[in-house]
Amino acid sequence: MQADLILYGGRVATPSGVAEALAVKGDRIAAVGSSGRVLRFAGLGTHLVDLGGAAVLPGFIDCHMHPLTEAMVDVNLTSARSLSEVYSMVRKAAREKARGEWVLGFGWSEAAIGGEPTRSELDEVSEGRPVLLARVCLHSAVANSRALELLKISRRTPVDEEKGVIIDYDSGVLKELAAEYALRYMLRQTPSEVKARRLQATLGKLASLGLATIVDAAAGIEELQAYRVLHKAGRLPVRVRVLLRALAVSTGRRSFTDPIRAVSLLDSLVDLKDVLVEDSWLRIQGIKLFLDGSLGARTAALEEEYRDKPGCRGELLHTPSELRELVSKAHSAGLQVCIHAIGDRAVKAALDALEDVARKECSKLRHRIEHCQVLSRELIARMRELGVIASIQLSFATSDREMAACRLSSRQLEHAYPWKLLLEAGVKCCGGSDYPIEDASPLTGVYNAAARPLPPEARGDWSWYLSQRISVRQAVDLLTASAAYAIHEENLMGSIEEGKYADLVALSENPLEASLEGLKRIKVLMTVVGGGIRHLQLRPQSRA
Ligand SMILES: [Zn+2]
Repeated sequence: MQADLILYGGRVATPSGVAEALAVKGDRIAAVGSSGRVLRFAGLGTHLVDLGGAAVLPGFIDCHMHPLTEAMVDVNLTSARSLSEVYSMVRKAAREKARGEWVLGFGWSEAAIGGEPTRSELDEVSEGRPVLLARVCLHSAVANSRALELLKISRRTPVDEEKGVIIDYDSGVLKELAAEYALRYMLRQTPSEVKARRLQATLGKLASLGLATIVDAAAGIEELQAYRVLHKAGRLPVRVRVLLRALAVSTGRRSFTDPIRAVSLLDSLVDLKDVLVEDSWLRIQGIKLFLDGSLGARTAALEEEYRDKPGCRGELLHTPSELRELVSKAHSAGLQVCIHAIGDRAVKAALDALEDVARKECSKLRHRIEHCQVLSRELIARMRELGVIASIQLSFATSDREMAACRLSSRQLEHAYPWKLLLEAGVKCCGGSDYPIEDASPLTGVYNAAARPLPPEARGDWSWYLSQRISVRQAVDLLTASAAYAIHEENLMGSIEEGKYADLVALSENPLEASLEGLKRIKVLMTVVGGGIRHLQLRPQSRA
């Protein structure tokens, strides 16, 4: 065998210990061992990379993110610290756009900018362009008048708070399904090639962070088109697994959510499933259902009322029978079902439906619950019994800590973001970022999950938060081996073994050997996906 690529002189982390080198043939790992042994596979044309002592881990897998949303953002508002700063950023972006082109902003929060942007003030700075500013949680957005006009939203548009269609025409605020509808509409108006080009740049950035595989956790037709354009042209820098959103969004008279439409949409998704199923770069993995909103917006469905809003317990977006029908359709089509459920009431409803429909087969199709932010002992026990995977976002607890402490009672906090309890109970878990809501860097996620840093000048009782720290090893596992399991590909990725995909990341230091604070200094030196180098920051390399 002559290798195509050999990495040598490093510390390669394998399930059976540390090796010095590995050889790649085609898209697979062909040999792992000492540098002396592996270099024997070098020949004319073998690309040799001296690792210079770098650590090599399996390429990271992010089980939950939304890269197209990030790719389409024109104005990143996460750094904005005032409303006037937001407006001047929007004005600048609007001037760079052609007439009729949308301006998409993302990342504001009222805590950071001291209020919410409004429709009329956006009108002043938008130069006649349609503007949509998504809040950092993506569950809420503010539109200007031109955008609302294109969206056909007027004062007469029916609002259905229970169903999550929340519109305030005067302020331009759209929440939950109304925000989702606006974002989808904007994506649909953007030509496929433009989406594909911007998506490729975003996926390239993800590869430079050490990611080899990402799961798009709520892809619509718009995402699928863009991925397919890139895939056909061989331009995908990372592997993509897609969860198709089974969400009925229409401008229909009665409601944005129409269960009959949701089911017929799901039927067409089931047909789509077979289109790409055998490809190692792009694959439809399953479907995504949304059962509640977010804690930040107080739309997550809780058993108890919100501590900071008496009488409010959030809303379930589907009735039990609707949910059962959706789960049943997907399950019988052999699709993995991933249900967005943040509050304990939503998690319970999700488990009820999964138990009704799938029973023992949950673990076969590896159905998942996304986020699992507020749980209970009973819910955790049921997840383990049913074999339902908890899909957790490693940075959420850190980003949400102050907000969660306001929203939830001390009783609820005991099982909030309970990553350690889940792992100790033996629930299968997988990790993700929910990028762009959080930083996509796997190392940042590992740090936040293991360190759970406190806010500056923290006062009060943070034991609920600190007690749920997990080890660095567990956090890395959630983004490698356990993530591979969650996408049914544990035989192909998630560890460095002969025969698996050559999906690798070289790091300046092995996170398992670094101190907690040292994690922040680790550099991603190289990312290899399917044997191809996608990112390289080592010194210049030779060819044999
Ligand atoms: Zn998400």
